[in-house]
Amino acid sequence: MTHINSKLVHLGRNSARQSLAVNPPLVRASTTVFPTLAAFKSSYQGVSFETPRYGRSGTSTAFELQTAMASICNTQSCIATSCGLSACAAVLSAYAEPGSHLLIQKEVYGPTRAVAENELRRIKADIEYFDSADELPHLIKPQTSLIFLEVPTSLSMKMLDIRAVTTIAQKHKIPVACDSTWGTPYFFDAHDLGINISIHAATKYINGHSDILLGLITGTYEDLAKTRHWCERFGSHAAPDACWMTLRGLRTLSVRMERHQENALHVASYLQVQPQIKNVLFPALASDPGHQLWQQQFSGAAGPFSIELQPCSESAYEKFFDSLNLFALGTSWGGFESLVMPAIAHHLRSKQTLADEGRMVRLHIGLEDKDELCADLHQALALLG
Ligand SMILES: *Cc1c(COP(=O)(O)O)cnc(C)c1O
Repeated sequence: MTHINSKLVHLGRNSARQSLAVNPPLVRASTTVFPTLAAFKSSYQGVSFETPRYGRSGTSTAFELQTAMASICNTQSCIATSCGLSACAAVLSAYAEPGSHLLIQKEVYGPTRAVAENELRRIKADIEYFDSADELPHLIKPQTSLIFLEVPTSLSMKMLDIRAVTTIAQKHKIPVACDSTWGTPYFFDAHDLGINISIHAATKYINGHSDILLGLITGTYEDLAKTRHWCERFGSHAAPDACWMTLRGLRTLSVRMERHQENALHVASYLQVQPQIKNVLFPALASDPGHQLWQQQFSGAAGPFSIELQPCSESAYEKFFDSLNLFALGTSWGGFESLVMPAIAHHLRSKQTLADEGRMVRLHIGLEDKDELCADLHQALALLG
């Protein structure tokens, strides 16, 4: 079995066999009990990360998800954590110590940046931000311990030449981590591009139903060793219920992503030609500056993108949000439903690089009928004048 569509359906179901069910059992446990002292001892000496030991490092439900996800991402290993942010924080923290130097892509997810700015700086790690692969040769130091990417960046939707980054990093023997949440393993093969540590907020598309939080980190055993130790020491692992829900979401990832892509392209193309809209930030559009890199590095486009409105009054901006019916107003994305939120670049991003006279809006295009989504936006845009 090599095709991702087959893997999504079949993997992570081994423990279902005993119960003759399609799906694996949800195993909730704090304590693992052993039949003999020998079994107890060997569980602590074992090299396998998929052996029950104590509930904190997972039960069979987490192991099913982790082994499935590792195979789906064409790598050896996966760690499930309590949420996407804890996964990002674990990776960053595992590589930060006093004097170490971490290079982080500008405009990463705001809470990820807050970890770097507050927690990593607190332990006297040296943090620097970069925008493109060209800057890296000038920024890399002997103490550089990690390069952290997010492609595309949330809200500003910027692409990056990932292959160029990983090529430079390999030359200097620096591991590269990437927040791969937007592309999901369905549209984005992070490890094939040379990324050592790939992070997914499974809260978004992998679970796909806006009802749990979960993070997944994938890579080889060697590349995940530091992060795994950090997660074990700090108790960052995911709860069995969230792992079970994520396994259920995984089954339909391929069909959902295809529909999200179809709808997002349709809505983005509609918006692009509306007079109230100054710019659509979506690398899947041919007009986007990141389009070529997106084509090279992704096999498809997910549902979130941003729009920049023509200058308008604050009250018109408010009316636009309040009159939408199919787009609920809320943060996050990746569920089946369409969402809208104000994107205030200078509040959320590392550095304001977007023109501010046009107000920004972040949309997530859900699985509704695409023409009805456009019609809903149409009536709301009309209120902008
Ligand atoms: C949502 C998100 C996260 C955080 O995930 P949570 O599960 O909400 O903590 C991290 N990175 C990106 C790109 C996200 O969109």
